Amino acid sequence: MSNPLAIDGGTPVRSQPFPAWPVFDHREERALLEVLHSGHWGALTGTKVPAFEKAFAQFQDAAYGVCVPNGTIALELALRALGVGPGDEVITTPYTFIATASAAFAVGARPVFVDIDPDSLNLDPDRLEAAITERTKVIAPVHIGGHSADMDGVLRVAAAHGLRVLEDAAQAWGASWRGRRVGALGDLGIFSFQSSKNITAGEGGIVLTNDAELAELCWSIHNVGRVPGGEWYQHERLGSNLRMTEWQAAVLLAQLERLPEQLALREANARYLAERLAAVPGLTPLPTDPHVTQHARHLFAIRFEPAAFGDRSRDEFLAAWRAEGIAATSAGYIPLHQSPAIRRALESRFEVHDLPSFPVAERAAQNTLWLFQNALLDDRAGLDTIVEAALKIQRAWG
Ligand SMILES: *Cc1c(COP(=O)(O)O)cnc(C)c1O
Repeated sequence: MSNPLAIDGGTPVRSQPFPAWPVFDHREERALLEVLHSGHWGALTGTKVPAFEKAFAQFQDAAYGVCVPNGTIALELALRALGVGPGDEVITTPYTFIATASAAFAVGARPVFVDIDPDSLNLDPDRLEAAITERTKVIAPVHIGGHSADMDGVLRVAAAHGLRVLEDAAQAWGASWRGRRVGALGDLGIFSFQSSKNITAGEGGIVLTNDAELAELCWSIHNVGRVPGGEWYQHERLGSNLRMTEWQAAVLLAQLERLPEQLALREANARYLAERLAAVPGLTPLPTDPHVTQHARHLFAIRFEPAAFGDRSRDEFLAAWRAEGIAATSAGYIPLHQSPAIRRALESRFEVHDLPSFPVAERAAQNTLWLFQNALLDDRAGLDTIVEAALKIQRAWG
């Protein structure tokens, strides 16, 4: 793809790249060599996976963790453990990564969408009741971008209707809601450690819970139906091999050590950037709900108003911003009810031919800009280029 010229045909505001991701040092190197020489490369005999399960669960205020190869598998495992299957419905948001909804299909269930709150971009609990049917089994809020969903609202509705809650916390390492870290606020919660995420092993995932029975069930399903303390060929239920490798856990233990410091830096930089963006009419950082006591800062979401940019579109702005060197950006999700994959699956498996519209999610998909987490690891001068580039474009478009 050719790189368009900066807006005035001259030099882009920013020439240096944003901080590289992933970040690693001698800690990852040493941990990987340790696994190599130990000869224990798999979780069944290794020590790294159990150590990371314990450390990450503790970090998220959860009692138990079960590591799996990635976040998508974590969602599917969690739904299986909650007994979700054919005939069941899983309520979630359309403003999320496809895995949240594809996991429901993977276990034979139907995802049902509920529109979002325009500020948090998360599932709006006030709209839940209307979507509940006798088939509803699980509510799956997503903490999008690292901003916790309204868990008070979700848990209240779930309790009133006897529903289980699965948190898709794939982007929410370190995030908290009213002082408690997310992931085990509901029945189960999942996290991803895929390459773009704030802590990564290239791929990786975990399921967290405070429920001992659910933890044991997840462990069993992820280990081909074995049971803790059981015989090697003793399989008590049909499961699968969903075990993480020791390589992944070794890297993740080192990544987790670095996370608190990065979390604090991203937070401080997000606040700085939000203050500086106040100088740019038409680019409004989305507010943080006061109940969110820690934002994980995976995505820095900005609302774009065309009127402030000579009625140019969000996508034109994004292209111009990138041409000015602000590359760590995205236009974000296509809402899942508009995804061809989801529409086709709903049609072929559930004979759903017409989905309602979800106007808040549709508007968010049209007017939101994301900055990626690695941009928030930059220094102040680097963050200033984000604002300067926007001002330059604004001046040019009058
Ligand atoms: C990344 C992500 C997933 C899937 O995790 P993978 O590890 O990529 O499979 C699920 N849900 C959300 C919201 C995500 O951001």
